[in-house]
Amino acid sequence: MTEESPALYVVPTPLGNLSDMTPRAVEVLRRVAWVACEDTRHSAPLLRHFGVAARLLAAHEHNEEAAAQQVVARLDEGESVALISDAGTPAVSDPGARLVARVRAAGHRIVPLPGPCAAVTALSASGLAEPHFLFYGFLPAKARQREDALRELADLRYALVFYEAPHRIAETVASLLAVFGPGRTLVLARELTKLFETVHACPLGEAPGWLEADANRRRGEFVLIVSGAPPAGDDGEGERVLQLLLDEGLPVKQAAKLAHAITGAAKNALYERALQLRK
Ligand code: SAM
Repeated sequence: MTEESPALYVVPTPLGNLSDMTPRAVEVLRRVAWVACEDTRHSAPLLRHFGVAARLLAAHEHNEEAAAQQVVARLDEGESVALISDAGTPAVSDPGARLVARVRAAGHRIVPLPGPCAAVTALSASGLAEPHFLFYGFLPAKARQREDALRELADLRYALVFYEAPHRIAETVASLLAVFGPGRTLVLARELTKLFETVHACPLGEAPGWLEADANRRRGEFVLIVSGAPPAGDDGEGERVLQLLLDEGLPVKQAAKLAHAITGAAKNALYERALQLRK
């Protein structure tokens, strides 16, 4: 870290497991003069744990503009600042983007550090083979707006990544099922990096029952990932038949071949899907 030119360092922090703090994150936090954080009371213990002595500055969604001015003033004085959020990567469903834009507009350096992010952590364990994903973050809280938002995504071939809190998990899964239907795969990743970490994949149609079966499954923080829309020309029938054949114990290749012969859905896409479903 060169100190001749001050910078705003964007520093991810652990999602739950303190060992996920990177050595570089610790080094940067120990060397900057200021740390801008969402909630100073929340972040103080973490910073103490890592021996960070920097002064704290509040930068949350309700004061981001004023906080940006303070940060720019510190940088103008030649002092470096680190930006952290309560957990994970700042500016990913967290405040930070406006602050970064202001700092850049003021002509200062922005240095992002790689590190924990719930969306990417969940994706890595999803087993979904889509080459693309769309990060959506939080859906609207009201069912009607939520389902309108989901309808706009329904035809995308990308894996869709959502964030959700425990008090809304059941109704959000109900909305996913209502809009996307029962055949697409849902991956529920909860409490990542924590004691009760769970990553469960099932057809969307089975997800409400899985959640209902045990109250513990509805606790904690969630990333929800839905597999992409079935290939064009496949109205879901290909996947339905494929699932039936796999349930009968047919090998992946044979199930894909037969599902193609029966429904006309694209054979390669069925094969890829069969591999995912078999997992
Ligand atoms: N900036 C963070 C990131 O990089 O992932 C996200 C912050 S957002 C305010 C909080 C949401 O992230 C939670 O409601 C949940 O959807 C997701 N999340 C955070 N920690 C998580 C964890 N340990 N397991 C699963 N999801 C988590």
